[in-house]
Amino acid sequence: MSFSKKLKQLLTYTPDKNNWDGLIETYKPWLPVSKKTPIITLKEGATPLIEVKSISNRIGKGTTVYVKYDGLNPTGSFKDRGMTMAISKAKEAGCEVVICASTGNTSASAAAYASKGGMKSFVIIPDGYVAQGKLAQALVYGAEVLAIKGNFDKALDIVRKLSEKYPITLVNSVNPYRLQGQKTAAFEIIENLGNAPDWLCIPMGNAGNISAYWMGFQEFFHAGKSKHLPRMMGFQASGSAPLVEGKSISNPETIATAIRIGNPVNKEKALLAKKESNGKFSSVSDSEIINAYKILGKEEGIFCEPASAASVAGLLKIKDDVPKNSTIVCVLTGNGLKDPDCAIKNNDSIFHTGIEPEVSLISKKMGF
Ligand SMILES: *Cc1c(COP(=O)(O)O)cnc(C)c1O
Repeated sequence: MSFSKKLKQLLTYTPDKNNWDGLIETYKPWLPVSKKTPIITLKEGATPLIEVKSISNRIGKGTTVYVKYDGLNPTGSFKDRGMTMAISKAKEAGCEVVICASTGNTSASAAAYASKGGMKSFVIIPDGYVAQGKLAQALVYGAEVLAIKGNFDKALDIVRKLSEKYPITLVNSVNPYRLQGQKTAAFEIIENLGNAPDWLCIPMGNAGNISAYWMGFQEFFHAGKSKHLPRMMGFQASGSAPLVEGKSISNPETIATAIRIGNPVNKEKALLAKKESNGKFSSVSDSEIINAYKILGKEEGIFCEPASAASVAGLLKIKDDVPKNSTIVCVLTGNGLKDPDCAIKNNDSIFHTGIEPEVSLISKKMGF
């Protein structure tokens, strides 16, 4: 290649991410949108798939583990994938007000996309059980926040009733457009790997995301874009594991507040995904979740929220079941910055405080 040609190529080169117009624009033929749909986007999607050797090594047997780091979406969670669809369709239908119940991330995402689309948003959250970062986001993005003395399941009951009675669009994962948007994460994984993984490990709360991934994997498989379908491995926190125990939990408890849900609305879909994919649902304790959370931070430089670490904790828990030479993807659903309280309480790092600003003193503390 001539020097001038090469120079021209360099000067005109633009990384993919700059051409990225968000997931609706990218996957239009696969989504229920038309020319009339106003696309409300914050350029969500195209999140990285990162190999995590510290996890692969703990499993051995030639396993390759990746994380789908969906905490790098615009508001810091995968909820943005569903919200760009739900809000765009709400806008298309002429809606002016949206509402959701939330353990935090749905409210942050709904508030951001509603603002972008020029709509008002109401969010109903369990008082005292929403991580600080998420609450801050909903407020900054301009939502009207109502914190109730009750858990997520109660909040969802209330928003369902409100949206039946008043001209408000419900944007929880009972809204079918949410799952349509969320299925695009499976498309991205297949495009990155050139095939589907053998296992997909994913945390489950309302179980919308596992249902959406299964839909995405099936659609791309039937279109000939992958050679096989993955087994869907779903994980819940042991204090909040209705899908593992096979019954609703009236007082779910876990440090992973994003999956603190006792009666998942997408239960039937998730059970079907498990059955059709020959998958498996298991639970992990809070201490197993925190262990995985620390490994990802300390050994991989990846800061996710506790609910997200449940996917990796789950994989480590059932590692004896992993077949030789498997490719596994764990979904990291949300960004660790959302929950700074949890982070500061749960790490093994050394933190000296109140030190006099003197070099000699500090160097001594540092061990020199
Ligand atoms: C919403 C959420 C989940 C659970 O997803 P579901 O679709 O409700 O199963 C898991 N992790 C994080 C960080 C979330 O925000």
